[in-house]
Amino acid sequence: MSLIVQKFGGTSVADCEKIVSAARKAIRAQREGHQVVMVVSAMGKNTDVLVDLAQQVSDNPPAREMDMLLSTGEQVSVALMAMAIDALGSKAVSLTGAQIGIRTDSTHTKARIRSIETSRVKQLLDDGNIVIAAGFQGIDENLNITTLGRGGSDTTAVALAAVLDADTCEIYTDVDGVYTTDPRVLPDARRVPQIAYDEMLELASLGAGVMHNRSVEFAKKFGVPIHVRSSFTDVPGTLIVHDPESKTRPVSGAAITKKEARITLEGIPDEPGISLELFSRIAAKAITVDMIVQNISKDGKANISFTVPQNELKVTLDAVKQASELLKPENVTFDEHVSKVSVVGLGMATVPGVADKMFQVLSEADINIQAISTSEIKISVLVSQSDAQRALQAVHNGFELDVTPEDSPTEVSSVRVRDVTDPAIVVQRLREMEDLAIDDIELDRSQSLLLVRRVPDRPGIAAQVLNAVASKGINIDVIIQNVGRDNSANVSFTCPVGDYEKAFAALEEVVQEIGAGEVEGNREAAKLSVSGIGLRSHTGVGVRMFKALSSAGINVDLISTSEVRVNVIVDEHEGEPGLKALEAAFKDVLLDT
Ligand code: ADP
Ligand code: ASP
Ligand code: MG
Repeated sequence: MSLIVQKFGGTSVADCEKIVSAARKAIRAQREGHQVVMVVSAMGKNTDVLVDLAQQVSDNPPAREMDMLLSTGEQVSVALMAMAIDALGSKAVSLTGAQIGIRTDSTHTKARIRSIETSRVKQLLDDGNIVIAAGFQGIDENLNITTLGRGGSDTTAVALAAVLDADTCEIYTDVDGVYTTDPRVLPDARRVPQIAYDEMLELASLGAGVMHNRSVEFAKKFGVPIHVRSSFTDVPGTLIVHDPESKTRPVSGAAITKKEARITLEGIPDEPGISLELFSRIAAKAITVDMIVQNISKDGKANISFTVPQNELKVTLDAVKQASELLKPENVTFDEHVSKVSVVGLGMATVPGVADKMFQVLSEADINIQAISTSEIKISVLVSQSDAQRALQAVHNGFELDVTPEDSPTEVSSVRVRDVTDPAIVVQRLREMEDLAIDDIELDRSQSLLLVRRVPDRPGIAAQVLNAVASKGINIDVIIQNVGRDNSANVSFTCPVGDYEKAFAALEEVVQEIGAGEVEGNREAAKLSVSGIGLRSHTGVGVRMFKALSSAGINVDLISTSEVRVNVIVDEHEGEPGLKALEAAFKDVLLDT
């Protein structure tokens, strides 16, 4: 018998009428012959109401008590849902996270799932019940109630689908599918019939709130197809699966994080171990750092900039202060009114010129880019909050995301593809649940590193610099632009070693034109990459990398991070030792697929 997990978000259970309508959906699925597990969020904006209550009694509520409070929202919904189903004449049982046996670590308000019991749920299903699970919650080893982070009911749903070996996981929400960008922000966003796990993972982490990013990690790891659809209409919705919508389009979606903060440490020592000192302190607070940009200045000192969510700025600055005792930065600056605009697409990895195009489009819209960070399947730029909306609109138009690609599928199947049939591997993955899993560690020796100093910080400059190189047919890989200081910025990127001289010459020319500083480079550079799932949300990955490289005495020239990959650029002769160091550091989590 097939099993379906149906998840209903806050708006889908906002009032009693909607609860009854969700109950009917589950009963219908059961009558069609499926076993049904429902995962339910708190009603409407109830979680926000609870957060607000907490803030009225305390400026700094203890995280444990926050979880105690927030978990009650879901408890109300599951009980009402069970009553509604009972009143409609079917059998249902509601369960809290603890009653199911969703075990998590003890990181209150951001807990990760360690394991899930299946026996009670299976028994209840076999007895003909619809099982209604409270989303977003679990318990730790001391029986403390934990929550999985805002939006975490998606993760409960996909995790249950994984352990119960469900055939599909339906996410019922207030939009009728996944769009090329948030349709509430940009009305000309287009609903896509299908999107790849990796793309959704990036988009979710870069601001597309339609799915909790960790739910997509689960789905990818266990091959669970996610079907996002409307609670209120019968539109077919979107499938999140292995393959993208189009094989020809380089960009599949755009996302915006309106409220970001940028922090810069100026004038810190350029030595192995420095990034570690800083980021291990931030990671210890479970804060996700993004857009790490590091530049070496002339006097051998380094500047490091990075972004964090605006609401985590305060805690991050505390961590920076601790690290500063050792790093002794000449200056620490921050800007809490920046936004991150990103484009994502699997096709980007093979189609050149995407970054170029993005900078061009932004330049035409007269938008100044404060920082750039690219990786294989995403490009992010940091802009001022007041430019953010226009920037999103410009890239959405520029990549024609509102136009349906010719090879877009007309029909999509939601049948689960069980990609791993070896029971040992399935068991291994189940045991690991949300643990870190690394697929691959690679060394690419064919890279060169180029750097242009003191590029005037004004709209269109990044486009001009990179275009000078790209127009010579040179394939640019990792691109980093730091935050402008004294109205100037540094732009670094990598290109194939064979193109180094050509790129250097092109840069010297453009530097003349735009009045930038000198061009520098390292012909013999190497790229070390660690790829896996959810690397950025596992805040310890960067730390492990920096630790391994610094204990091997290796200095990192450039860093770029994404959800599925972390790249560092080092000197060529440190490539081999770097690879060895990373392999040793990640041995325990390297998947033997
Ligand atoms: P739920 O309460 O059902 O979990 P959420 O509010 O968490 O619903 O997620 C749905 C919302 O996600 C939509 O209302 C939409 O504004 C937002 N969203 C952001 N990015 C996207 C996107 N790319 N596609 C669809 N919706 C998006
Ligand atoms: N109720 C929780 C929240 O609002 C979890 C969820 O809805 O996914 O964040
Ligand atoms: Mg949600």
